[in-house]
Amino acid sequence: MKNIILLKFCCCFFVAACQIPEKTEPEILKKEASIEKADSLPLGVERLIEAYPGHFVSFKNNEIIWKDGTKMPYDDFKKDKTFSQLINEADLEDQLLSMPYPKGKNVPAPKQKSDPGRVRFEPFFKKMYGASADEVRKNLTTIVWLPKTLNIKLQVTTVNDIHLKLQNISSRLDTMPHLHKYVKNPGGTFNWRNIAGTNRLSMHSFGMTIDVNVEFSDYWRWAIKAEEDDGSRVIEYKNRIPMELVAIFEEQGFIWGGKWYHFDTMHFEYRPELLID
Ligand SMILES: [Zn+2]
Repeated sequence: MKNIILLKFCCCFFVAACQIPEKTEPEILKKEASIEKADSLPLGVERLIEAYPGHFVSFKNNEIIWKDGTKMPYDDFKKDKTFSQLINEADLEDQLLSMPYPKGKNVPAPKQKSDPGRVRFEPFFKKMYGASADEVRKNLTTIVWLPKTLNIKLQVTTVNDIHLKLQNISSRLDTMPHLHKYVKNPGGTFNWRNIAGTNRLSMHSFGMTIDVNVEFSDYWRWAIKAEEDDGSRVIEYKNRIPMELVAIFEEQGFIWGGKWYHFDTMHFEYRPELLID
């Protein structure tokens, strides 16, 4: 890691010494990312650093180090996890790499055991957004959802500027009346609770998730057709949410629950690490 720091320092010194015109911020970030790459960071760590700028200072001995010094394990070195193990016992590496998220409008219905985004290392989200309801609440603010037309107040986190990203989505949707029926009466944002039927925290606990209109929601638990001998379920895919709306959320770093075999089509959560090209 000393090498990374030294390289960064040399790079900054070189830029200053040669009086190269001042770089814009995205160019500097790009430059730093290429230096990190030269030091062969694991792919998942590279994505993490790019997706959540400002949160991490280094990666060493299989641990990602947060800016306050907190160390978090990256890889548990357990390979060939089953689907159930990925959902229930993920490490940070699994969260980042085990199920690629298909970005964009033209994607097929999800295949069995493909739930990209449902593989989550819970300590990561607790560290990022708050480890208790009270801690999460300290970071919440109120935004007005579609202020020109719907004018609905929502509580969301300010961590990662998520309140600003949702306001961007909101401003855009305000000018798209044909999509309003899908986003009025939102099903909720912040709510510290477990996922139904599990002891895992819902992403709604962290204030970075929104359910759009419940009236247009389809959910896998309502669509189980059969249960197979190994306990896996045969689910009939359903969706009434337009892909035009999905693309607007994805542009701001939110993934959609409609791209999961265990689908939840009103659900959008902030997961920029899964949307990096
Ligand atoms: Zn939800």
